[in-house]
Amino acid sequence: MGSRFDITVVAENEQSGNEYIAAAVGEITRIEQLISSWDDASQTSAINRNAGIKPVVVKDELFQLIKRAIKISKLTAGAFDISYASMDKVWFFDGSMQEMPSADQIKASVAKVGYTNILLKEEDHSVFLTKKGMKIGFGAIGKGYAADRAKALLIDKGVKSGIINASGDLSAWGKQPNGKAWMVAIVNPLNKSHVFSWMPIVNSAVVTSGNYEKYVKFNDVLYTHIIDPRTGYPATGILSVSVFTSSAELADALATSIFVMGIETGLDFINQLKGVDCIIVDENNRIHKSTNIKLNSTKHE
Ligand code: ADP
Ligand code: MG
Repeated sequence: MGSRFDITVVAENEQSGNEYIAAAVGEITRIEQLISSWDDASQTSAINRNAGIKPVVVKDELFQLIKRAIKISKLTAGAFDISYASMDKVWFFDGSMQEMPSADQIKASVAKVGYTNILLKEEDHSVFLTKKGMKIGFGAIGKGYAADRAKALLIDKGVKSGIINASGDLSAWGKQPNGKAWMVAIVNPLNKSHVFSWMPIVNSAVVTSGNYEKYVKFNDVLYTHIIDPRTGYPATGILSVSVFTSSAELADALATSIFVMGIETGLDFINQLKGVDCIIVDENNRIHKSTNIKLNSTKHE
């Protein structure tokens, strides 16, 4: 998936630990082959190739993932949209941009984006992208999904405790061998050795989204690499978002959504969802949190 996975298991001995880790790696590889839009052989690529041409029958697993992604699109009024993948590249976050793209260019860049044009047919589990040139991609939900699945597989195998960390999309279960909860550090995005706070993770997930190295600045506005699929404009004002909930898949998708929604709307939104919390670090390095988050200590036990 183009990202690093760290897998931690608590096991009886090293050999069984290694077997568990190998099984988790196998599961993540299997999912990658299903959802990758770079792999020509994946069912996802087949859907994209047939955009505007014909529906493609896919495995139930992929069908359900797309269905859940569309549900999140509806929940976020389109801030989250897997059809973002057809956006024309008009923004570059590698320091090469000299001036802002024109309003027309920006508008045209999202012409093929729109989750309402992803048609799912329950009877035969087919997926049809109605517009030619449309594309879907799981960049903002796939790592979380893979982490959840790897965790579920290991729980099935009897592993009592562990962490699947997909480059900051983290799903944990059980406790540390010393009986304490797993702890996750919320760091200062601009200085990762500075920890804002430690949070316990008990049978749940935390996902941090934010790529502070990738941004561009025009007229004192900082534009980041996550783009609003409705307008074509990059998200502004936020450096990082961490979402806490039971599933890494949902947390992954919501973290991206909050970037697009912005601080105020994002917090309002999360405060209305049961069992979901978030911490936002804004461009001035200030912390904003949903109502249930209590941050008081920066000490790690
Ligand atoms: P990170 O890069 O920090 O893991 P995310 O989980 O937010 O961040 O994923 C960002 C990726 O999600 C982008 O690189 C892109 O592939 C995809 N993406 C960008 N914007 C959206 C969006 N509005 N809806 C769905 N996916 C998106
Ligand atoms: Mg995400």
